[in-house]
Amino acid sequence: MINWANIPLKLLAYKDPVEYRANITANFIIYLSLIGLALFTAGHLYSGNTALFYGCSLLLSILSISMAIFNKQKSLLIILFTLFMGSGLLFIIYINKGQNYSATWSFLYIYICMIVYGHKNGLIFTGIYLLILLPMLFTWVGHNLGILEFIRFTFIALTSLFFSYLSEWSISATLNKLADTQKKLEIISQTDGLTGLYNRRQFDSVFTKEINTAKRNKNILAFVILDIDYFKHYNDAYGHQEGDFALIKVAQQLQEGMQRSNDAVFRLGGEEFALLFQVKKERDAVTVTENIIKIIEQLQIPHRDSQVSAYLTISAGLFTIKPQQIISEQYAYKACDELLYQAKKSGRNQVIHCI
Ligand code: GH3
Ligand code: MG
Ligand code: MG
Repeated sequence: MINWANIPLKLLAYKDPVEYRANITANFIIYLSLIGLALFTAGHLYSGNTALFYGCSLLLSILSISMAIFNKQKSLLIILFTLFMGSGLLFIIYINKGQNYSATWSFLYIYICMIVYGHKNGLIFTGIYLLILLPMLFTWVGHNLGILEFIRFTFIALTSLFFSYLSEWSISATLNKLADTQKKLEIISQTDGLTGLYNRRQFDSVFTKEINTAKRNKNILAFVILDIDYFKHYNDAYGHQEGDFALIKVAQQLQEGMQRSNDAVFRLGGEEFALLFQVKKERDAVTVTENIIKIIEQLQIPHRDSQVSAYLTISAGLFTIKPQQIISEQYAYKACDELLYQAKKSGRNQVIHCI
């Protein structure tokens, strides 16, 4: 079933809760103003009040045209509508000389401004509004208004300003905290706790995107799976904690070696890492991977039970995807894993590249 409210209000378009709340209220105001004005226009046409009918239809046209013009600059549109609302209210109060309860609509206006502009800017907006309204009402004290009535109105207006500020402040503080937590959770879900690298989940979610980005850039995407050699022996010889330290050092080195904007380093799990980076020539991908392998050995992390070196080493499978190739990520992963297996089988501490 179509959710009709979703079409004009774009309910699902906002991910940030703070922005969401302000936008929904703003949209609500815009549509409410237009509907109200359309009803006024129709009402004046029906009652035969020509001057007000033309006045209302002129305003309706101006607002509709401005909506069409400024629709992309939403904030400008919202300012326009709230300004229109505020000045309209002041105008009605002026015509009624503060009578007929017209001034009481100001309380609603205060809340609307606070929600749309947040507690800081809302305070400025409503502050200016009250600075115009209160002296205007004061000029009628003795003519139309009793001083007691004026004091009562001023008191309630300031109290409502205070409480709407307070509630808006606490809502925005809560929403900001929520947004912060959301961001932190997102980072936690993307990263590996031990090394701080992106994890397997993040790898799975970006792999396809990286393939497409490289295609768009007309570059070759290099995909490398790295696996530490004889790491089980390392743990057995030095203990699990030393194993963890070694993993952290290797991760740091990989990250330092891959600093370009399109480079990404992942810990796929255990002592297995992955690299994604773009190159112009396949030879460059081999050079980068060979350098990484060399640098890891040059870290000189002692490994007395390794059969290939006195230090900790790493093996790699390198799979490259050319821009014109159509390859699924599952295929690429399997192929790269196979290349890593060959690197292990043919001596370790080396990279095997697909031809
Ligand atoms: P190969 O050269 O063939 O890769 O041999 P290997 O011993 O490295 O391979 P294997 O897959 O048999 O062993 C991986 C070891 O990595 C097993 C496990 O103890 C260790 N390992 C996996 N995750 C962690 C971790 O988070 N911390 C530590 N310290 N060790 C880990
Ligand atoms: Mg392994
Ligand atoms: Mg290993």
